[in-house]
Amino acid sequence: MSFERSRAAGVPLTVVASTGSTNADLLATAPATDHLAALATLDQTAGRGRLDRVWTAPPGRTLAVSVLVRADLDPVARGWLPLVAGVAMRDAVAPLVTATAVAVKWPNDVLVDDRKLCGILAQVAADGSVVVGAGVNLTLTEDDLPTPVATSLALAGARGGADDLADGVLAGFWTRFREAVSGLSADLPAVRARVRAACGTIGREVRVELPDGSVLEGTARDLDDEGRLVVEGPGTASTPGAGRASGAVTAIAVGDVTHLRYA
Ligand code: ATP
Repeated sequence: MSFERSRAAGVPLTVVASTGSTNADLLATAPATDHLAALATLDQTAGRGRLDRVWTAPPGRTLAVSVLVRADLDPVARGWLPLVAGVAMRDAVAPLVTATAVAVKWPNDVLVDDRKLCGILAQVAADGSVVVGAGVNLTLTEDDLPTPVATSLALAGARGGADDLADGVLAGFWTRFREAVSGLSADLPAVRARVRAACGTIGREVRVELPDGSVLEGTARDLDDEGRLVVEGPGTASTPGAGRASGAVTAIAVGDVTHLRYA
């Protein structure tokens, strides 16, 4: 695994043959790790999503990459890190696939034709830096998919072997993510506008499971200035932590979103 394009793009990259979790590794070494250093593997054996959910990664067929951010960002700008990571990944994978519907599902899943290609998890290290990790399905076949709503680059029409696809994704993701991280300090309104434009959830009918177990259905209208999903619907939630409720409009900070289809 040479990762030639990533190295040519200037990614400060460490590649390991196998590890439990690239996020866990960077969190552990955070104080000694440079800004935007990346750690990657094609064999992540204990990947996790939010709430400790399992990220399934058959060896050699998925990419796990984590990037450490130690920029001095204010809390609002930091809150946009997971969202800009999703947009950077969407823009990195879109040119590789034949499918045209490549979108970010709020906050940061990358979907191809409404099936999940990539999951992203941002975690704060003890020293305050942030580790942003992405799991990307490279060459999984239909039989390998962990859920019926997953997909892979190969299934979406991308050509090439796992190593080559991993290199292309990593170079494209890191370059765009670096740009977005700089943008968070330099021009936050422009970054917000870019994320809003790339967020495929806006305009969709959604079902949102909130941390307290309640469920909200409605139309996703916008992202507010803190990156929360603004949902307008018949039912609103006003649970602490679920976001502000104002009339029929709720701003959601944390929740599991499903895009609904209505015939
Ligand atoms: P959601 O799918 O609702 O966005 P999430 O953002 O919490 O959930 P992640 O943290 O990104 O999800 O990843 C964990 C979830 O992703 C698992 O619960 C499982 O449903 C799904 N999943 C696990 N492995 C894969 C994979 N290789 N490809 C696609 N989806 C996966």
